[in-house]
Amino acid sequence: MGGGVLICAGVDRCRPLIQRLKLLALHTALWLVAWAVVVPVTLLASDESYIVKRGDTIYSIARSYGIPSTVLAERNGLSGSSHVYAGQRLVIPARRTAQRTPAPTEAPARNSTHTALPRSIQRAIDIAPVRPGRWQYIVIHHSGVDTGTFKAMDQYHREVRHMENGLAYDFVIGNGNGMGDGEIAVSRRWTQQLDGGHLASEAQNKVALGICLVGNFDERRPTPRELDGLRALVEALMVRCKLTPRAVKTHQQINIVHTRCPGTKFPTQSFLDSLRSPSH
Ligand SMILES: [Zn+2]
Repeated sequence: MGGGVLICAGVDRCRPLIQRLKLLALHTALWLVAWAVVVPVTLLASDESYIVKRGDTIYSIARSYGIPSTVLAERNGLSGSSHVYAGQRLVIPARRTAQRTPAPTEAPARNSTHTALPRSIQRAIDIAPVRPGRWQYIVIHHSGVDTGTFKAMDQYHREVRHMENGLAYDFVIGNGNGMGDGEIAVSRRWTQQLDGGHLASEAQNKVALGICLVGNFDERRPTPRELDGLRALVEALMVRCKLTPRAVKTHQQINIVHTRCPGTKFPTQSFLDSLRSPSH
């Protein structure tokens, strides 16, 4: 204790004050130790915590963790429209308890590094009549809107864009709004090995598979589960089509006309770096 900083008339009159200060310091120290021991344990048991950054909203944080924003708000005693401020600590509910809709029965099992592809999707990849050399690229898109289902996108491409083969992509991956978070849907472009409809050039559509992730990644990042699903899918397609990670491109990287797709917040480099080369 810095007794020297006390300005006082005499040592005798000061002593009780110094002793009281020493006691106070001891209590504070004990309390801090107890807090340090107890708090991380309760957080680690189920939940994570997150320190709010500038520009974050309840909605954007919930989305980046793949949990409903209402659940995040409730868990922190806030309303969905509450303002959060930079530096604020939020409790992020564990995803298992946060999911209100039951996870699809075939939700990929998470492991520490790579997620396994659901068996039905692996099977759809295996049984498609892929001609050797048919595909040269796997191209990643975002839907550009926060909510989306395979069915609605298929209908849109059929009725509004007048695509006779429907959905322009081979695969769609959901973000939890409309489809399950990380759920993969397979279109007939893949099962029947039709040309794609997702790139500006017909020549490219003949050699490029298209995967669309639901979300607007100019606004927020894909959910962790979407990225896990994408990685598992891309790796299975590389094996099936005998491609290397060099064949995997974002729409922006391959398009002859400028596009920001799949959005400025899609983690292109880290995603491409995380791909395992198939051993064939
Ligand atoms: Zn695109």
